[in-house]
Amino acid sequence: MTTTTAAHLFPSPLSSDPDDPDFPSSVDDGARDVSVTRIHGRCAPFCATEGPTAGASVADHDAKCLSAVGASVSPVLESGRLAHLVAFLARPYLHGTYSSVDAAAVEQSGFVELSADIPTADGWVEKNFYLSAADARTLGAGLTRMANVLEWQDELLRTERERRENRDHSGEEVQA
Ligand SMILES: [Zn+2]
Repeated sequence: MTTTTAAHLFPSPLSSDPDDPDFPSSVDDGARDVSVTRIHGRCAPFCATEGPTAGASVADHDAKCLSAVGASVSPVLESGRLAHLVAFLARPYLHGTYSSVDAAAVEQSGFVELSADIPTADGWVEKNFYLSAADARTLGAGLTRMANVLEWQDELLRTERERRENRDHSGEEVQA
């Protein structure tokens, strides 16, 4: 089990202009002075956002680069209703002046974003989960393994059912 990081995954800039000469070189985060880092935005290669891929403000772009849909399924809830589960690649998009703590997000290699849309009595609720490459691979391998077990069991049950039906029709024991 990995611990969660304290910093926000997709930080907002303190100032939207990285070249603002009037912005101080450090800010008080409530406990201490932290230095600021000025960053000019550049999209992740997989970013599906239209328009400029470099130098766009966070307001124009978004605080994260998101790929086109990588995978989507509609799993069933216990209530029988369908939910939606969609996977994207995600990476922080930084443009402006940030506290050096938040600026570290630009070093992150990104995430697999699992976005769950869940129907509730009050409408749809969206919940996003961010997986490291290692976690995504672990989950993917586990899901594939379990899917294979499910199909293997289905095959066993089908074979057993056919054997029983043949026996019932022929009136004699069918040897395995
Ligand atoms: Zn982008």
